[in-house]
Amino acid sequence: MTKSEALFERACKVIPGGVNSPVRAFGSIGGTPRMIRKADGTHMTDEDGNTYLDFVNSWGPMILGHNHPVIREAVVKACEDGLSYGAATAREVEMAELICSFVPNVDMVRMVNSGTEAVMSAIRTARGYTGRDKIVKFMGCYHGHSDALLVQAGSGVMTAGVPDSAGVPRGCTRDTLSAVYNDVSSVERLFEAFPEEIAAVIVEPVGANMGVVPPAPGFLEALRKLCDRYGAVLIFDEVITGFRLGFTGAQGYFGVDADLVTYGKIIGAGMPVGAYGGKREIMQKVAPVGPVYQAGTLSGNPVAMAAGLAQLTLLKEHPEVYTELNEKGAWFYGEVKKLVEASGLDAQTTSCGSLGCIFFTATPVCNYETAKTSDTGLYAKYFNHMLSHGIYLAPSQFEAMFLSAAHTREELQGVLDVMQEFFRR
Ligand SMILES: *Cc1c(COP(=O)(O)O)cnc(C)c1O
Repeated sequence: MTKSEALFERACKVIPGGVNSPVRAFGSIGGTPRMIRKADGTHMTDEDGNTYLDFVNSWGPMILGHNHPVIREAVVKACEDGLSYGAATAREVEMAELICSFVPNVDMVRMVNSGTEAVMSAIRTARGYTGRDKIVKFMGCYHGHSDALLVQAGSGVMTAGVPDSAGVPRGCTRDTLSAVYNDVSSVERLFEAFPEEIAAVIVEPVGANMGVVPPAPGFLEALRKLCDRYGAVLIFDEVITGFRLGFTGAQGYFGVDADLVTYGKIIGAGMPVGAYGGKREIMQKVAPVGPVYQAGTLSGNPVAMAAGLAQLTLLKEHPEVYTELNEKGAWFYGEVKKLVEASGLDAQTTSCGSLGCIFFTATPVCNYETAKTSDTGLYAKYFNHMLSHGIYLAPSQFEAMFLSAAHTREELQGVLDVMQEFFRR
């Protein structure tokens, strides 16, 4: 038995499923999760001493690679001054100023501790601002695990949400309407049915939690127009895309402004951080200036802020990171596409910047329904082939590959070779 296996056995006795987040489980691909001991640059090392070239990158935060010395030093230095005060600090001000300086239409920002909290709070703010209750989300988009958002709703866009999870009362999802990603008419129909009741439309501007599903040309623009026409708040959930596609995230990448934006992952550089922000007029509804209550004992935690500030500052000092990362992504996923096509396998490749994905299906993927046609059994084989060659992918078909600035072309070429070996079989 390996150390990972022994630890996992212990873990299963005291942690549900042995993991602290279901996405870490190996249920869908077989085997037991590798217990990771440390990570540096592009590699992670498990408790048995195996090293892996990592494409999960903590699900996105490690855009500069693991254990960046500048970020580490900032954290260690912050620790010397104490771990938390529960009072206002200079670093929070700097963090908010930095985010607002990067993103022109974000005038104010509130720090929280996770992406889930950021989205939950943005929704509450949109409801408080509009005085409306209903929200529109897209099937297959993930916005954290708060009650109202745990809805994919299978049965057509007009049905009010049915919770996906046990423990979510129907009442919590009654006002959650589901639309089809990349299908503007599905959103139009909801606005026509509830013209004065929809507080917000929330969307992942690049779908990255059903595999990677980029927005079709015009999709985000159409959402902007519909929200303007009906007086609803447009929320971009940029927990993955924020500071990944560029400083201005998907908003800048696609040239569409949202009213509220949520962040997470990269802005914490690996610490538990989230944020929501947007137009002053809307953000001033938040307590203590406004009537929308939202709070957090550890929000804006000094150590977490030190990590996030260090990462964002590094990115600011090296703006070429984004050009290089997006070029590297275009090249790499382009090569993956070629391999897939040459293999004759029923598979689709999708990508946007440094995010990419292979869907094992003959159907072109543009939304949740089409993503779900994937052969997850074949993904499991692919995953295990890659893992046995020291390449750590997400243990699920429906997740993205995250390239970091640290990945070298040589490493990526090596990955392509291992992929090719799999596709040839
Ligand atoms: C990860 C993620 C979240 C949730 O963030 P947590 O920090 O895990 O709570 C929300 N929205 C999107 C788009 C995400 O990818």
